[in-house]
Amino acid sequence: MPSNPVDQYVKLLSREQQENDKYVIIDAKWFEHWKRFVGIDSQPDKNSSPGPIDFSSLIDTSTLEHPDGVQLRSDAVEGNDYTFIPYELYQDLVQSYKKIGTEIVRKVISSGDFQTVIETFYIPLRVRKSRQTPSTTKQIYRSRRTKLEDLKTDICKMFSIPSDSYSTYRLYTSTDDYGDNWEAIESRQGSTLADIELSKNALITFESATLSSRNNSSPVPSGTFYTPGLCGLSNLGNTCFMNSALQCISNVPALTDYFRRRDYSEHINRDNPLGMKGDVAQAYGDLIANMWSGKINYYAPKALKQNVARYAPQFSGYSQQDSQEFMSFLLDGLHEDLNLVKQKPYMEKKDDDGVVDDVKLAAEQWDYYRKRNQSKIHDIFHGQIKSVVQCLDCKTSGRTFDPICFLSLPLPNKKKIRIFKIEYIRLNGEIKYYYIKSNERGRMHNLLKDFCERFQPKQKNNTHEPMDADDESTSSAINSNNQDDEQEDDLTLAPDYDGHQPKAELILPVEVYNHRIHLQYSDDALLTNILERDQIVFYEVPVSLKKENNETILMPCLFRTADSLHQNFGLPIYLNIPRHKCTGRHIQDALLNSIGNFLPLPPNHTSQSSDKALYTASCVFNQNYTQTTKPLSTCLDDHIDFNRTNTTLVVDVTAAIVEKYEQEGKKRIDKEHQPTSSTNSSGVQTRSQHKQSTTSLLDCFKYFTTKETLSDNDQWYCPKCKQLKNASKKIDLWLLPKVLIVQLKRFNYTRHYRDKIDLFIDCPIYDLDLSQYVLNPAEKLNAKYDLIAVSNHMGGLGGGHYTAHAKNIHDQKWHTFDDSCVTDVDETNVISKSAYVLIYQQQSQSVQQQQQQQQQQQQQAKESPRKTSTRATKASS
Ligand SMILES: [Zn+2]
Repeated sequence: MPSNPVDQYVKLLSREQQENDKYVIIDAKWFEHWKRFVGIDSQPDKNSSPGPIDFSSLIDTSTLEHPDGVQLRSDAVEGNDYTFIPYELYQDLVQSYKKIGTEIVRKVISSGDFQTVIETFYIPLRVRKSRQTPSTTKQIYRSRRTKLEDLKTDICKMFSIPSDSYSTYRLYTSTDDYGDNWEAIESRQGSTLADIELSKNALITFESATLSSRNNSSPVPSGTFYTPGLCGLSNLGNTCFMNSALQCISNVPALTDYFRRRDYSEHINRDNPLGMKGDVAQAYGDLIANMWSGKINYYAPKALKQNVARYAPQFSGYSQQDSQEFMSFLLDGLHEDLNLVKQKPYMEKKDDDGVVDDVKLAAEQWDYYRKRNQSKIHDIFHGQIKSVVQCLDCKTSGRTFDPICFLSLPLPNKKKIRIFKIEYIRLNGEIKYYYIKSNERGRMHNLLKDFCERFQPKQKNNTHEPMDADDESTSSAINSNNQDDEQEDDLTLAPDYDGHQPKAELILPVEVYNHRIHLQYSDDALLTNILERDQIVFYEVPVSLKKENNETILMPCLFRTADSLHQNFGLPIYLNIPRHKCTGRHIQDALLNSIGNFLPLPPNHTSQSSDKALYTASCVFNQNYTQTTKPLSTCLDDHIDFNRTNTTLVVDVTAAIVEKYEQEGKKRIDKEHQPTSSTNSSGVQTRSQHKQSTTSLLDCFKYFTTKETLSDNDQWYCPKCKQLKNASKKIDLWLLPKVLIVQLKRFNYTRHYRDKIDLFIDCPIYDLDLSQYVLNPAEKLNAKYDLIAVSNHMGGLGGGHYTAHAKNIHDQKWHTFDDSCVTDVDETNVISKSAYVLIYQQQSQSVQQQQQQQQQQQQQAKESPRKTSTRATKASS
C-alpha cells in the first residue's frame, strides 16, 4: 500500500458502478468521520480516528443468525443511516480499523432498461409447506436476480422433497397478507424474482401438479357486486405511496370516465420519445377497468408497477417513495403516452417584450404550449401561472406564463422551535440531561446562549424577544403563554441546583457517537444539520475557548473495557494539558486530577500503585494517517508535540468499574428531566401549534403568491443591466385547471437534516374560493372548488405510511383507501394533519357530473332494477 493511499480511496469512491460490482453497506456516520479523518471531506479534522467500523446499528437483529445472512434494518435510510463503499476499499479499511458485527455485502444489479442500482434490500419471502396449513412458515431473503427454478429447488430442499420429483411441483404466491388467496407463479425459462410481482413479505408455497389441479380456488362467485371504484390495491412491498396516488387519481371522474370508455386506446402515441410507448397508458387503463368493474374489491397493480419501474427505476425496488412524485410521474407519463401532437413543431418561444398586455402574452404562451401538448390529461389538470421577476437595482421586470399541473404550496413561514436534548458534563464530573428550546434555523452559538440563559434567574416580564415582523399576531399569543415557558425554563429552581451558571465561552459543544468524539461543533454550525438522534454533549472547560494563544489545549480521553474486546463505553472526557513543552507526565497528572470525577473509583484512587489494577492509560498518536499506541507509563518523559501529531488518550478500565459506571448511567437516565407534554414526537414544535391556532389552505395560497426576494444563488439575468442580478419574484394564478392538485410542502430537505412539518392545515371540503389569487379577470368565475381526494402521509420520514381519502362518484360518500382495505370515513375526518396532496375539482365540473350520474342511474334503474343496489360490502355470498 502506498504511504498516502488517500488518492486511491478517492478514485475508488468516484468509480462508476458496473453490474456485479460488490459494495459494502456502511454506517454513514462512521464514513463521514473517516472522510474527515483522512482529509477527503471539505472540513478535515485529523483529531481522532473513527475507530472500528460498527455494523451493529444497521442490522435487523432478527437476522443475526439467519442462514441467508444478516439483513439491513428495513427502516434504515440511505444517506442518514447508511451509505455504500466499494468492497475493495472496505477490505483496506477493515484491516486498518477492524470491525464490530457482520458486514452486509451487496452487488450492483441492472434496474430498468438502462440503469444500475446496488441491491440494498433482498426480497423477504415467507415460505410455507402448504396453502392450507399456516404452520411451519420460514422467513427467507432472496436477491431479485434469483432464478425461479433455483428458488423452487431451495424450497423443495427446505421441506425435504426428493430431488427427482422437483419437476412435478409448482410455486404459488399469496395475493394477500394472510394466505387466503393464492395464485400460481407463471415462470418461463430463466425468469427471476424481479420478473414477477410479489406482495410485501409474500407467502410462497409449492404443490405437486396433480394435487393442485383438484385444489383450484374458485373464482369470485358471479352474483357478487361491489360499488365501482371501491377497490383496494394490494401492497407490493412498500408501495403504499403508489396506491395512495392511484386512488386519488382514480377518483378524478373526468379522467376515469375517459379511461373507462376506452377512448384512450385511439390516442395512444407509441412514437413519442418523451412517452413510454403507450405502456403506462395501457397498464393504467387496465387498472381502471378492473378497479371500476364492480366485480372485485381489491386488486394487485402489478402490471402498472412493472411498467412504471421500466421507465422510472426510482419507483421500483422496495424502498418508500413519495406519493406526490409518483402522481406527477404518472400524469406526465400518461400525458406523453396520450399526446395527440404526434410531431412536436419547433417553435421559438416569444419572450416578454414589456409592451403587450398580460392577456395577449398569456394567450401567446399558452398557444405555444398547446401546439406541442394536447391530451385529456392536459385538458383536466393543466392551468397557467404568471411569474414576474424584477431586478432589485433597475426595477426592470420580466413576465412568463407557465403551464402548471401541480401547485406546491409552502407552509407559512412560522419560526420553528425545536427541542434539543443536551448532555452537560461539568468539570466536577456531574452529568445531566437538559431539553433546550431553540430556533431550529439557528446556529450553535444560539443554542449555547439559550442553554446558558436557562440558568439565569427569570425576570417576570419580557423574557422573550419580539417576534418577526411578518408574524405580529403570534407575539401576543406567546406572551399570554409565558406561564408555560417559565415553568419549564428556570433551571435555577431545580431541587438539586447548586448555583452553577454555565458560560458559553466555557462550553465545548461536541457530537458524541459510539462513545467517541464524532465532531466538535463550530459556533456557526447550523442546527438544521443536527439530526434528531444525534448525541449533543456540552463539555464545561476550565479555560475560555475565546481566549487567543491559549497556553493549554484540550485532549480527548476515551474509555474502553480492559478485556480483549476493548469496547468503548461511557462518555469521553477532555483533559486540559500544556500546549507547549508537554510531556507524558503532564498528561498523567491531568488524568489523575480528573478521572475520579468521571469514573466511580474507590476513594484511595490517587495512589498510583492501586490504580494499576483499575485502569491503564495509553497514548494514541496519529500522524500522516498512521497510528501508534504507547502505554502512558512508558512515555512519561517523552516530549509530545501537538503541532505534529494528534494525540488521544485511551483508558482501559476493569470490568468491576465499568459495571458500576453503567449502573450510575442508568440511574441518570431514570432521573432524566422529561420534556413537557406539549412536545410532539418529533421534538419539533411550531409557534402556531403552541398557540393552538390553525393555518388555513388560503393562508398557504397567500404565502405562495406573496412577492419574495430570491436568494443569492438564484439570481436573474437582467436584460437592462445585462448581468445576473438579485431579484424579486411574484407568482399569480392565471388559468385555473378543471382539477387542481395541491401539494402541501410538508417535507424539508437539507444535506444532513430532513424534517416533516406535522402542522394541521385547515382545508375546506366545499367552496374553496381562489378568486382573490387569480389575476385573470375572466377566470375569477371559475375559482370555486370542492375537494374530491386527499393523499395522506402519516409518521415520520423514511418509515411513514400513505393512505388516501376519496369521494366515490357513485355513492357520493368519502372512503379511506389503505392499501387493499377500503372503509367509510366521515366527511369531518377527511382532513387531518396527515393531509399531503389535495385534489380539488372546479364546482362547474361537479354539477355536470352529478347530472350525468343521475341520468345514468335512472337509465340503469329502468333496464335492470336489481343492479342499482350498490354497496361497498358483498351483497351476497
Ligand atoms: Zn437591472
